[in-house]
Order: sequence, then C-alpha cells, then structure tokens
Amino acid sequence: MGTLVQFTIAGADEDAALQAIHAAADEMQRIEDVFTIYGEQANTIKVFNASVAGEVVALPEEVESLLLTSLEVAEQSDGAFTPAIGALSLLWGFSLPEPPVSPPSAADIAVARSGVDIKQLDQTDVGWRRLSRQTRLDFGAIAKGYAIDRGISVLRELGISHAILDAGGDLRAIGDHAGQPWRIGLRHPRKAGVTLGWFEVKGDISIVTSGDYERFFIHQDRRYQHILDPQTGWPAARSRSATVITAGNTTLADAWSTALFVRGSDALSLIESRGMQALQVDAEGNIHATKLSLVSFHPTEEH
Ligand code: AMP
Ligand code: MG
Repeated sequence: MGTLVQFTIAGADEDAALQAIHAAADEMQRIEDVFTIYGEQANTIKVFNASVAGEVVALPEEVESLLLTSLEVAEQSDGAFTPAIGALSLLWGFSLPEPPVSPPSAADIAVARSGVDIKQLDQTDVGWRRLSRQTRLDFGAIAKGYAIDRGISVLRELGISHAILDAGGDLRAIGDHAGQPWRIGLRHPRKAGVTLGWFEVKGDISIVTSGDYERFFIHQDRRYQHILDPQTGWPAARSRSATVITAGNTTLADAWSTALFVRGSDALSLIESRGMQALQVDAEGNIHATKLSLVSFHPTEEH
C-alpha cells in the first residue's frame, strides 16, 4: 500500500502483542496482494481489468463484497468516489514505481475518464463484466481502510483490546491507554511535522485522512496530486485534506475521505447525515467541520 504501518498496543504482554502484530500484518499483506493493481503478481482484479469488454469474470467473495460497498459509496457520493477509476489512476501513474513529473495529455485523460461510470460495471449470475475497455477497478481509496479493519479483527481474535493500527495516517483505535484516551495528531497539510490539532479517542474509532501531500508533483508551479476528480479526470482541486471519523468502520471512513476530498465542504452535511463526522481543509487552508462528538478535538493554537 506504499505506506508504513504502525502498531501501538497497550494492556498486553510483549510476546502476545508481537504475535498478534505479526498475524495482523500478514493479513494486511494478504489484502494488499488481493486488491493491488500494481506489481507483477497475478490477482483477479488484474484479470478483470485485462478482460475483454463484456466477458464475465468471477470475483472472489471478498473482492465482490468490497466492490459492492464501493458501488454504494459511489452512488451515495454522486460518483466523487468510484472504484471504476483504474484507467485514470494508471494513466496518471502516481502509484507506479516511477511516479510522474508532468501531467498526461488532455486527450488521453478524456479517453481514460470515459471508464469511470459505475454503470459500466455489470453483475451477472456468475460474476462481473466491464462494458467498456476503459472501465478498470482500483481499490486504492478503500482497500487500506479495509486492511486496517481486518488487522484490528485479527488483533482482537488474539486477545488484544487496546491498540492503534495506523497505516500512514489512516487508523483505527480500540480501547484506551491504561485508562486514558488515545491521543492522535492530525497532520497539517502543508507543514510536515506540524499538527492542526489532536484527537482524544476511546472505544472504537476510525480516523482516515485523504491529503494532497501524500503523492504529488509540481509542474510549472502547479501541484498535481493523486486524488482525481472523476468528473474532469484531473486532480481534485477543492481540498488540501479531508478527514472522516466513524465509530469503528475504517473501510467506510476511507472511501468517504476520498469522496469528501473530491467534493469539498459541501459534502460535510451528507457525511453527517450518514452518521459519520468529518473535517476538511479547503484549497485556501480554511478548516470546515461537522460536529466532532465521536472524538474530543483539540485544535493547535498556531497554524
Ligand atoms: P485515498 O488516499 O484514500 O484518498 O486514496 C487515493 C487513491 O485512490 C489514489 O491513489 C487512487 O489509486 C485512487 N483514487 C484517486 N481518485 C479517486 C476517486 N475519485 N475515487 C476512488 N478512488 C480514487
Ligand atoms: Mg480513501
């Protein structure tokens, strides 16, 4: 997933904690292998993406399940998040071994963009087919959250009740730290090492942030970053970062953080109406938020 995963565990002895961490890390690696569209190793998503348009491909239950969740968020977010963005993701190439230094041509973007409509993903009795050659799956905006949820399940199965599983700023925290809330920093989107504030959390909370600082290049004084607006095919321009907080569903928080990043602050009420909470930093650096009652948020004085 192109990121470092950090485990923090409290209230367990070291051997038990290490054993649980290894098992959770193995499970997260397995999920990366199942869902990635990069690298040489075969998986069914790569098979689907290379299939002839109209050909039915059977997807494993786990893939189908995350695809169905993705399609729901795609509908609910009016396509701001879409799992059918693979052709555009591969064209821009932010996650390729050699990241880009200049944008692709407008003509190539228009062709790849024609694939993003989820209506071109069709479920049959025996599998799924794509109706356009430009419709390719990419779970890059949701699989990390799913991997975190699976990692937390494994930790719990192995007796861990107090932990933070943090994959590059996307995280789920369970339990507490010796009776005290976990403290989690929210990164400033422009100043490395500086926080916008702190969350104090207890219980079971997912906090996922999509940011324009994660993968980007500057070309002719303009920033091009990896979260794409499916309506234009170009990098989404309404946000610097978008954070979604849920009661223990990192998968949904991940998908919605990407949708919020694309749509900007007008999606906050939509997110709130779905029982989630969120905070967005807009393109000018202003902060917009829903009520943040799932956590206790302490803004940093100076930023
Ligand atoms: P995230 O950091 O969770 O916002 O995910 C960003 C990744 O999701 C990108 O690197 C792409 O692989 C993919 N992606 C980019 N734009 C979108 C979008 N509008 N909808 C769904 N996935 C996207
Ligand atoms: Mg996401």
